Amino acid sequence: MSLLVVGTVAFDQIETPFGKSDIILGGAATFIGLASSMLDVKTGLVSVIGGDFPQEHLDLLIDKGIDISGIEKIENGKTFFWAGRYHNDMNSRDTLATELNVLENFQPIVPEKWKKPEVLMLGNLHPLVQKSVLNQLEERPKLVILDTMNFWMDLTWDELMDVLKDVDVLTINDEEARQMSKEYSLVKAAKKILEMGPHTLIIKKGEHGALLFHENNVFFAPALPLEDVFDPTGAGDTFAGGFSGFLAKTKNYSFDNMKRAIIYGSALASFTVEKFGTDRISELTEDELNDRLDVFKSLTNFDIELD
Ligand code: AMP
Repeated sequence: MSLLVVGTVAFDQIETPFGKSDIILGGAATFIGLASSMLDVKTGLVSVIGGDFPQEHLDLLIDKGIDISGIEKIENGKTFFWAGRYHNDMNSRDTLATELNVLENFQPIVPEKWKKPEVLMLGNLHPLVQKSVLNQLEERPKLVILDTMNFWMDLTWDELMDVLKDVDVLTINDEEARQMSKEYSLVKAAKKILEMGPHTLIIKKGEHGALLFHENNVFFAPALPLEDVFDPTGAGDTFAGGFSGFLAKTKNYSFDNMKRAIIYGSALASFTVEKFGTDRISELTEDELNDRLDVFKSLTNFDIELD
């Protein structure tokens, strides 16, 4: 069971109605790796950082058992930086800054020992970088999952459409699904997107849960109704890390197992939003995760008698 992840390892600065963070550890690959490491899955990251990236952040990843040999450090470069501000509903945000820095000329190199992963998670990044990682593998992984966002749809549409043809599962949020398909109805959007390449689509709806579409099957997983959502940054990536990690661990890619994987992703994401950045997910214990999986089970379990 192994999961290869490509994505950003970044600095974030976040403003929410509750306050403003310092410049903290962020990035899609960071959240994905931290989530999958909770499931004891051998996880390797491919990314790039600048000379300004502190060793303590790398140590955190190493402590969690994450293989960082695929993270390249460019000593005279600056780490990718993203800043965002959440609206009062915490479901929508404005991007205040996206400084690509070392990401601008990033040529990913997959370490030799990572050329045959069970599952590949192409985190939110330039689609050419995502494609390059896929092309470097010696065997096609059992499952290829891709995450993207409006930023790449706006700037690199053709490249995104090209890499999408080679992936099995796409994860995006509802706004992005509408942008990608030009359909308002998410059911119509899913139909159109499933013609673009992936056989499975996950639409993340923030506090309203996630939808899984595969052929004519649909499954819905709720998000945990939390009293306080402190910072939603990284929730989508944590979800993707839980989803891909669970599938890499169980090696079962059926629709039924993907339903379980979605519940793991949702449970893990429900922790990430409780504190700024990676603070909560990096201190999470296995017992806490298991308790929350139980809560998820009871959240949607009901008896009904039908004639
Ligand atoms: P999420 O809240 O799950 O959508 O992901 C938030 C993370 O995505 C942050 O930690 C950012 O560092 C990272 N991020 C923001 N914009 C981009 C971008 N254009 N490309 C790649 N990663 C990004």
